[in-house]
Amino acid sequence: MSRALSGSGHVSFELLKKQVIDRDLCEGCGLCAGTCKSITMVDGRPKLTGKCILDRGADHCGRCFDICPQAHPEQVPAEMEEPLLAVSVRAKDESIQVVASNGGFVTALFKHLLETGEVEAVIGIVGGKYAPQAAVAEKPEDVLKLAGTRYSPSGVMTKLIEQQKKTRGQLAVVGMPCELRGVSRWEEMLGISVLKIGLFCSNNMRKDESGKATKMTPCDHCTDFIGVHADISCGFAGSGKGYTTAIALTERGREVLQKALDASLFDVTEPNLDRVKASQQRKSKRSPAEIDMPLREKILATLVSSGPADTVSISESLEAKAEKVHYHLLVLQQEGFVELHENPSDPYRLEWHATQ
Ligand SMILES: Cc1cc2nc3c(=O)[nH]c(=O)nc-3n(C[C@H](O)[C@H](O)[C@H](O)COP(=O)(O)OP(=O)(O)OC[C@H]3O[C@@H](n4cnc5c(N)ncnc54)[C@H](O)[C@@H]3O)c2cc1C
Ligand code: SF4
Ligand code: SF4
Ligand code: SF4
Repeated sequence: MSRALSGSGHVSFELLKKQVIDRDLCEGCGLCAGTCKSITMVDGRPKLTGKCILDRGADHCGRCFDICPQAHPEQVPAEMEEPLLAVSVRAKDESIQVVASNGGFVTALFKHLLETGEVEAVIGIVGGKYAPQAAVAEKPEDVLKLAGTRYSPSGVMTKLIEQQKKTRGQLAVVGMPCELRGVSRWEEMLGISVLKIGLFCSNNMRKDESGKATKMTPCDHCTDFIGVHADISCGFAGSGKGYTTAIALTERGREVLQKALDASLFDVTEPNLDRVKASQQRKSKRSPAEIDMPLREKILATLVSSGPADTVSISESLEAKAEKVHYHLLVLQQEGFVELHENPSDPYRLEWHATQ
């Protein structure tokens, strides 16, 4: 679906629980907890610790379901688009080299963004390998504490939303491909933009009750290696020891990466992009999880993916009652998500179009 639905009618925490949390599909990004004060991350998983407003008689919310990246899986294509800029880099600053996982790309970039005032704060993580916690750095000298890679979810995006509410200034965040998919939904809902730095990802780990680290279930269904929602994404794939491959995927990402290169922060070599492409090809073979979306979202998804259609054909393809489909289409029209147009080949049959 190309745009987030802000407020999905009768969609409550129950739906998120049933479709994502109880099926062990939650990745622990913390976006739902950031967006609703009734949800708290407990041991890396969201819990309803307050009251869902729908249980108190309200009829319009669903923000937690709307924002959740695992409730909105995506099939990322096997062939990745050519990046706007691609480099293999190592931070020249030796104090970064000793704490970074690979070439210290993220740490050096974050430090530079704060030094130049490009952003007001950066959000990453601190803590042990399997017990990371989200953290904010507002001063260049504090960025080193975020360096290094932790193979576990951290609820990092709760911190992003808290920081955005606090400052409303420019922010940069680092996260996994799935987490950045959720951040994109949040940006669309609020009409804002943060600088998104992705980490290439094959799998992530979580400790079970016995303390053993095991691969997380959502990763079995994940098809995004490169982080298609990032402005710049990075990882060790395609680089030699001590270097990080960094690829710019948006115009903003290209500008930011070019400025960092112009500032001579890095030793730079050519990356082997075939390695990155091969990892994306392998990952795209996984199957996204099936999520039983509310009818309203299914209707919009159908119009976005299959193009214009009339009420009867939509209800047939979704095996739903035409009156129900018609009702949701009228509400979606009022909210500006769909429009009615004449069908050029049959003027008596009006067609619904998604507006984006
Ligand atoms: C779970 C996981 C799986 C990965 N799998 C691959 C892979 O298969 N192939 C590959 O090429 N690269 C993978 N990476 C990326 C790689 O391990 C490095 O993180 C990347 O190369 C950046 O190195 P660096 O030296 O430039 O970063 P650094 O300068 O050391 O900075 C790393 C930044 O990432 C942040 N960070 C670390 N862990 C997390 C986390 N769990 N969640 C959110 N932010 C975090 C830190 O706060 C820090 O700001 C993975 C990373 C993670 C977290
Ligand atoms: S109030 Fe809204 S965001 Fe919070 S749990 Fe209920 S449906 Fe989700
Ligand atoms: S928004 Fe993130 S933390 Fe919340 S249920 Fe979805 S994946 Fe889990
Ligand atoms: S494999 Fe996918 S779902 Fe798992 S942490 Fe990485 S990006 Fe997220």
